[in-house]
Amino acid sequence: MAEIAFHNVSKRYGEAIALSDASFTVNDNEFFCFFGPPLSGKSTILRLILGLETPDEGEILIGGKPVNQVSPAERNVAMVFQNLALFPHMSAADNIRFPLVERKVPTIQIERKLADVAAKLHIAHILHKAPAQLSGGERQRVAIARALVRDPAAYLMDDPISALDARLREETRVELKRIQRELGKTLIYVTHDQEEAMSVADRMAILEEGHIRQIGTPADIYDRPASSYVARLLGSPMMNILPSGLIADGAISIPGFGAKGDISEIGVRPEDIKVRPWSASDGGNPAKVFEVEPLGGYTVVTVDAGQTRIRALMRGQPDIRPETKVALACDTARVHYFSKAGAALPR
Ligand code: ADP
Ligand code: MG
Repeated sequence: MAEIAFHNVSKRYGEAIALSDASFTVNDNEFFCFFGPPLSGKSTILRLILGLETPDEGEILIGGKPVNQVSPAERNVAMVFQNLALFPHMSAADNIRFPLVERKVPTIQIERKLADVAAKLHIAHILHKAPAQLSGGERQRVAIARALVRDPAAYLMDDPISALDARLREETRVELKRIQRELGKTLIYVTHDQEEAMSVADRMAILEEGHIRQIGTPADIYDRPASSYVARLLGSPMMNILPSGLIADGAISIPGFGAKGDISEIGVRPEDIKVRPWSASDGGNPAKVFEVEPLGGYTVVTVDAGQTRIRALMRGQPDIRPETKVALACDTARVHYFSKAGAALPR
């Protein structure tokens, strides 16, 4: 069983707080993602799990056992490093064999594992090459393969595919997801790419400056962000977050929206905004289309509404032109409300 849990774990480097009072449980077999901007504490969490760092406070458990006093070698978790370091004098195949050779695994088993992982990562045709003969993407896959051949309690990956180009990244993340499901192993995955996090994670934790701000399934967090910070991090284009006062001047209409006590800002996802031509009977102040971005399957329409700019995501290629007057609307049920401090308020 490879459940991994933190109980109120904190880690400081001198004055800097890298992780503050973090508690979470990654379930056995789960694809769990840590997502946050640079320096939010993601790599620190992985180093703490590996045992490369010790917590200042709190307890870390692997498979239900406290490991604060357990050495990295005895923790049996495998890391795919951010900076992949393949042995330059060894072929890709020998790089992948290495962790098994080191553990004196019988040759027959090694070759079976190698063939298996090479097929899964589509690298069978490059196994004979030296790292210098491989592209960045191929090196990355070989490094992933080397981690996969071991049989650890859990795999850790620190932004493993960020060096790949966009297309290969999309392909590889789908593969990783499938591989994780087939292996039936716990995978803890760090990324600073929201789309990647949403696409791979069974559940994810959102980090801000060493604090875990929310834990849940991607769909849950997307639909019910706990704060405007989290709301802004997920989704592209980003959620529109507007001062609540703006609704009063008629630039955007939300049926049934009344002044609710503590609301400071409202949030509406671009896909929840409806854009239609303005007519005099709409009253209020018309909004004006600022720019239209046709992206093929959908179109981003940026609209100037009162003091603010709102982005709407529309299906297909609607017939909307810059400079035209439009009315914006959205479902009350799709609106998010935030307090002055940024906390989500009940809808
Ligand atoms: P992320 O992986 O999300 O980019 P890190 O976990 O690497 O973030 O860093 C979190 C914070 O801890 C940052 O403010 C970083 O500067 C600090 N930090 C991390 N490692 C060290 C270290 N070895 N010495 C000093 N500060 C560190
Ligand atoms: Mg990092």
